[in-house]
Amino acid sequence: MNISRLSKEEVFSLTREDIGKRFLNKDEIIHILESADALWLRNNNNRLSAHAVLKSGFHSDGFINCRKLFERNNLSEILAHQLLMKIAKNLYGNLCFESLALALKDDVNRIIGPVTGGAALAGKMAEILKIETGYVDSKTLEIGFRLVPGEKILVVEDVMTTGNTVLKTIEVFTEKIASDKICNIFLMPIIGLIANRKKYINNNGQGVVFLGFRHLIYLVDFKINNWEPDTCPLCMDGSAALRPKDNWERLLN
Ligand SMILES: [Zn+2]
Repeated sequence: MNISRLSKEEVFSLTREDIGKRFLNKDEIIHILESADALWLRNNNNRLSAHAVLKSGFHSDGFINCRKLFERNNLSEILAHQLLMKIAKNLYGNLCFESLALALKDDVNRIIGPVTGGAALAGKMAEILKIETGYVDSKTLEIGFRLVPGEKILVVEDVMTTGNTVLKTIEVFTEKIASDKICNIFLMPIIGLIANRKKYINNNGQGVVFLGFRHLIYLVDFKINNWEPDTCPLCMDGSAALRPKDNWERLLN
């Protein structure tokens, strides 16, 4: 079954079992995101169509809104499972599909993410592996789970643009471990992502796959343009700059 050829209605009724034991290709993942209305790419032929202001402050001509994906339980489960399998394959190589999941379950006790998208993805992935989950709020510095000595923890995020949110999440978390003097908590040297935009922000798209010393493992990468607000050519051209999550329907139509 080629997911890219399915209608929106067919995508909405997909299950994890329909995908079977295989990895989806990039086009199929993009088709799932588009079907869920989770991906917006600006029509740059219309100079007055609006553009996006990102959390990082950058202005942009595209946006991935995983909140729309997480509204669809089946689709978020499919992508969460794909990401788990991709992480396991990176760690363990060519084991069979079932063995990958079992090996990962042996090595990870908890999956966490920054609120809100990362935490939603972490919850979905942990549910599939039947392990613990948790969140970190990098703004309020709240840690939404009890630190347990000896745990091996995987950090995930739905979409990475600059990487600042994930870095802040890790910083909040490691400071808490230090201040509470809790030993033997191991953060895996991996960050799992649905979508990676960072690759194209740094290093001119030459394939950055690390954040600090952590390896980024992602389902899909996107080349979406970003500009500093002061030098944004779309603003200069008269296009409105909108917060995408507050104006999602307007951007999509
Ligand atoms: Zn702008």
